[in-house]
Amino acid sequence: MWRLRIPRLLLVSLVVGVAACATNEPPPPPPAQDVFLEPDTTRVQGLVEPRTTLDAMLRAHGVAADVVGTVIEAASVVFDLRRLRAAQPFLLEQALGGDLRHFEYEIDADSYLRVMPIAAEADEFRAEVVPIPKTLEHGVAAGRIDASTPSLFQAMDATGERAELTLALAQVFSGEIDFNSEVQPGDRFAVAFERFVRDDRPSIYGVITAAEFENDGRRIRAVRFTPPGGEADYFDDEGHSLQRFFLRSPLKFEPRVTSRYSTRRMHPILRTARAHTGVDYGAPTGAAVVAVSNGTVVSATFDNANGRMVRLRHASGYETYYLHLSAFASGIRRGARVAQGQTIGAVGSTGLATGPHLHYGLKKNGAWVDPLREHRNMPPGDPVPPGAMEAFRAVRDAALEQLAAASSPEPLAAPIVATR
Ligand SMILES: [Zn+2]
Repeated sequence: MWRLRIPRLLLVSLVVGVAACATNEPPPPPPAQDVFLEPDTTRVQGLVEPRTTLDAMLRAHGVAADVVGTVIEAASVVFDLRRLRAAQPFLLEQALGGDLRHFEYEIDADSYLRVMPIAAEADEFRAEVVPIPKTLEHGVAAGRIDASTPSLFQAMDATGERAELTLALAQVFSGEIDFNSEVQPGDRFAVAFERFVRDDRPSIYGVITAAEFENDGRRIRAVRFTPPGGEADYFDDEGHSLQRFFLRSPLKFEPRVTSRYSTRRMHPILRTARAHTGVDYGAPTGAAVVAVSNGTVVSATFDNANGRMVRLRHASGYETYYLHLSAFASGIRRGARVAQGQTIGAVGSTGLATGPHLHYGLKKNGAWVDPLREHRNMPPGDPVPPGAMEAFRAVRDAALEQLAAASSPEPLAAPIVATR
């Protein structure tokens, strides 16, 4: 947002008079009605600090208490000030004497709060929530996994796009591809996506509209489509859903499995082998842990063995367990509803854990089952309904054209011909 419009048109015979006193020059020509006023304004741009209020922010910058009260009164008519969030940008302009000229607070990616005096020198304020000017663009990117870009992150980086797009792409194919162990040199991808461009800040990604991934000779396509009366989902060429009842794993970017599920019982004498009722994923502290399916929080607890643990109940007799978390996501408490893919906590090493990892357990009708095998066998979501196939094909064909345009017309694996 911030288009920095400092120079404000003000009615200022007064200020011109001051300038004339300061310099010993002949009196200026009679002032025009409006002149630009520049040097008497100070401007502060920053990020909202944690646990603060608008009241405290304005006072900290020397805005007079009665003015703060008037500003808050005006602002709270259009915006719930309890929604002020840390780390959001703000802009504050003041006259040299401390009078508030202009205040902006970025509410979210779509809008900001603006407070200004109703007229120059007035001590009444007008507050508005203003849409942030931005343009929707359709972007495409295509890349290849090879020796110089051996991971999807690096391959995406080489296209000039950012890691958020990599995560979103991995999410689209999360039911089909294990991006940790299955990606290999020669794999290729193309992705078509929305991007919101702003003059003053980095652009932000919208949804992925279509994507293609060639993995070990197998090509998977994903086309975003909203069946009539349904929710948007990703479908393959033939209209089969790519969404699964369970995600492939509870981590956004599937990490290494460090210990598998095992039913071996402890040897009664040697006491060496023991059952491992879930799967361990190696992941750094703080990595987001997500709900593998829609469900309800059964508990979010701490104990010395499991550390911070979230337990979820899902349809069809399933329960999932997420152990050793460093933190719970906000709102994760008993009875809360969670959506598939929603962040429920962060990887940690609380409880009996030798290092940061996620122990993930899955119960079916009350008994532990092997999560890796069970997830692989989960049924896919509903296909495009027959009545919507014609509409789907139109969306698909347009999307595939975009992807084809993004990819090199020559297979990238072909020998490179020197051009000079
Ligand atoms: Zn474990």
